[in-house]
Amino acid sequence: MVITFPHMGKMYIPVKALFDELGVDIIIPPKINKDTLDIGLKSCPEMACLPLKVTIGNYVESIKRGADTIVLSGSCGPCRFGYYGVIQKEILKDLGYDVDIVILDPPREGLRELIDRLKKISGNCSLYSGLAALSKAFKVSEGVEELLELVLKQRCKEINKGDTDDILSRFEEKVRKVKGANKILDCIQDAKGELSKVRLDSKKKTIKIGLVGEIYTIIEPFVNFDIEKKLGDMGVEVHREMSVDNWVKYHLFPDIKFRRKQKRTLKYAKDYLDLCIGGHAWETIAHALYYARKGMDGIIQIMPFGCMPEIVAESILPTLAKNENIPVMTLVVDELTGEAGYQTRLEAFVDLLQLERSRKENEFGEALSWN
Ligand code: SF4
Repeated sequence: MVITFPHMGKMYIPVKALFDELGVDIIIPPKINKDTLDIGLKSCPEMACLPLKVTIGNYVESIKRGADTIVLSGSCGPCRFGYYGVIQKEILKDLGYDVDIVILDPPREGLRELIDRLKKISGNCSLYSGLAALSKAFKVSEGVEELLELVLKQRCKEINKGDTDDILSRFEEKVRKVKGANKILDCIQDAKGELSKVRLDSKKKTIKIGLVGEIYTIIEPFVNFDIEKKLGDMGVEVHREMSVDNWVKYHLFPDIKFRRKQKRTLKYAKDYLDLCIGGHAWETIAHALYYARKGMDGIIQIMPFGCMPEIVAESILPTLAKNENIPVMTLVVDELTGEAGYQTRLEAFVDLLQLERSRKENEFGEALSWN
């Protein structure tokens, strides 16, 4: 059995740690590029969600490199994500690939089923080894998230443009070469050490923007045109509550402390939206409110074209923006989105936030600090 999985930002790092620990062979799909998207566009229905198309590209590229089993997470929520596994299996069959697809649904959909599927992909390892591997993969997942948060904080203040991203790409190169969670954790520590030496302009006034929206389009840089880097290079400190680490903690292998915190955050949004309508629309509203009350300068919502839950969230955000007096911009992405227009919209939004900041400073004086 050779396993592959979809790409979503840096998710491949904890997944690699997990399978390395279990001693299972994996193929990490090549970094998403135009060819990956083209495969998806040729094979999927036009109106399918963008993440479904891109991940089909991931699978085909991995199958061509020897993968025979695909592992993906599932959901029985009200949006199309719940059907991904079934639809993708049919699409791959039509393309002539007869591969096994293992869907890991959240435990609430059936714990026995989840354990059986985990056993299948872990080569029937013992419960002890399985739990030990999972626990190490969680540590890697947390470590990666901490590293990415550091990157978001530093990129906007670095004196030599590109220092932070150079460290991040060297880190990724190293991770692909090493085997085992401990070695990956060492790479994370090394990268953190290198980041601590990057020269920063600590007095630089930065604009703060919170990202909300559909998880895949927030996290995967290929589909969002690397929005975090684009904003960071414009001197914006990006905040992103949505992460692979948080998703795993909430849905797949629940972390009680984190779940309580997340439930409190969701309750926070009850005046605007008080139930899960699929995808991450509820989180979009809750996080937008959280950012507004935390004093962010603006909020950007990102979503794939036609994403049902995010369309609902998009219709709520203008009321929230008005009530909380915070600018909100929505970016819809699909295979036809042009990077130049996208960049222009980001620059215009950041200019607007900077003007608004200066206006408030003039009005309220130094009492209103930038950071
Ligand atoms: S959240 Fe949106 S993009 Fe994702 S599967 Fe559901 S409808 Fe599609």
